[in-house]
Amino acid sequence: MQDWSLTLDKLLDHAARWHGGREIVTRSVEGPVVRSTYADIHRRAKQVSHALLEAGVKPGDRVATMGWNSDRHLEAWYGAIGIGAVLHTLNPRLFPEQIVYIANHAGDEVLLADPACAPLLAEILPQCPTIRQVVFLSEAAPPTPFPALAYEAWIAGRPADTPWGGFDENAAAGLCYTSGTTGNPKGVLYGHRSNYLHAMMTLQPDALNLSARDTVLLIVPMYHANAWGVMYSAPMVGAKLVLPGQKLDGASLHELIEAEGVTYSAGVPTIWQMLLAHLKATKGKLTTLQRVTVGGSACPESIFRTLRDDYGVDVIHGWGMTETSPLATVSVPSPAIAGRSFEDQLPYKLKQGRLLCNLDLKLVDDAGRRLPHDGRTFGRLMIKGPTIASGYFRAEGGEVLDDEGFFDTGDVSTIDAEGYMQITDRAKDVIKSGGEWISSIDVENIAVAHPKAALCAVIGVVHPKWDERPVLLVQLKPGEQAGKQEFLDFLDGKIARWWMPDDVLFVDEIPLGATGKIDKKRLREGLTGYELPFDPNLRR
Ligand code: ADP
Repeated sequence: MQDWSLTLDKLLDHAARWHGGREIVTRSVEGPVVRSTYADIHRRAKQVSHALLEAGVKPGDRVATMGWNSDRHLEAWYGAIGIGAVLHTLNPRLFPEQIVYIANHAGDEVLLADPACAPLLAEILPQCPTIRQVVFLSEAAPPTPFPALAYEAWIAGRPADTPWGGFDENAAAGLCYTSGTTGNPKGVLYGHRSNYLHAMMTLQPDALNLSARDTVLLIVPMYHANAWGVMYSAPMVGAKLVLPGQKLDGASLHELIEAEGVTYSAGVPTIWQMLLAHLKATKGKLTTLQRVTVGGSACPESIFRTLRDDYGVDVIHGWGMTETSPLATVSVPSPAIAGRSFEDQLPYKLKQGRLLCNLDLKLVDDAGRRLPHDGRTFGRLMIKGPTIASGYFRAEGGEVLDDEGFFDTGDVSTIDAEGYMQITDRAKDVIKSGGEWISSIDVENIAVAHPKAALCAVIGVVHPKWDERPVLLVQLKPGEQAGKQEFLDFLDGKIARWWMPDDVLFVDEIPLGATGKIDKKRLREGLTGYELPFDPNLRR
């Protein structure tokens, strides 16, 4: 067979040549919704490559972006990787000191940023000596105390024939830092080949199942977890892409879904909760949306039910992490499950799903011994494959693989006889009560189905007798009032007795981290000094 190296530039070449007229729609930083095509994106990405080469960027150098999902961001993305540079997506929602750490650790040289990031950049750039050029992803650059260029002027008039590719398929393409809920953020370096394989894996019918006929609304930020690979999978099949910019509120997303005929979307559960709240309040409809992939944190049952029953949308649960490119398991029906009623399928849909091809999974105990796949035994989830990190950028954190080459995900899960994996917790969030483990996620998901609850979180609090006991924190929907017992009654019968929270606390706000997940670190800090109501005679 012929030699055809799997480099990612070929994907946009393919989209431009064979799906050239397919649209890319963006809610622009300037405000209006703007339209371009794969052919336009390809031409302008080539112009970006020309500008980057002129700026002295060489293969392997890091080109950073800091921006929301947009056409210009996509052009910058391919403009950098096409010439062998490494595209480093910075998350503007992180704390400034984290961004400084990450940009310095990565050694970013050129930064392409949304104009809304200008005040943040004014604060951090003096501490980021490697960044030597800043370009704003906009028509005009905002006024700044540092020198900066405007993207449109930067690429205008440049040739659109800069050669791409020609490097090893194992060359690095992308760099993404995990948000670092423990310790410093760590960089995950993706290769051309690994991302190419990941895109092919995710396109399968039993994964994201995208096609040329789909219109994809990408809600997952391009700076988070490799944008679930959609920057590669959408061009690979020529799907229409809708990029929502910075406006991720329910009304703005709903408007785009209906106006653009979105058929498929992907995002974290909190986004869907916001959209559903908006739809309910406005009696809105979803007339084109067929299916959504929800992942990043466990998807509550209420989302599956409401999207299906009220809007006819199928919810597909997925699991992955920055280190796994990210998609690794997807909860689609196995042949044995497919013929069952929705109610009977639901327990499986709620699990994180079955493994994609090319990967291997195992469960181990604390001593690294394999555990059974019986759907009951909890263990550390370990994963292996060509789209799984073998270590972190600049060898941060040292050796991360076990003797068999498996990566420790830091997640605790079960795997059942049908091959469905279910996350029971993050290793650091699992509540260890009297030598047994309580899944904080399970209790949260049941509690959040309470009609008055907006968000719920369960954390372990030190207990004099049981080591740790669960406490439920509830953020009520606006205008609602509730008592502790109401929530305990709601949980009663739905969870094991000894999983019952020892206390229910109502909070104004459950803090979300930079990627929209519940920030348990901040919740725990907020509970410093809190003591559990303790009844020494209470038996569990
Ligand atoms: P960060 O670690 O910075 O939060 P990641 O996106 O890499 O960013 O997070 C990956 C983690 O998110 C996984 O290890 C897992 O704990 C959690 N996660 C991802 N998808 C799901 C899901 N469907 N259900 C439960 N947890 C999930």
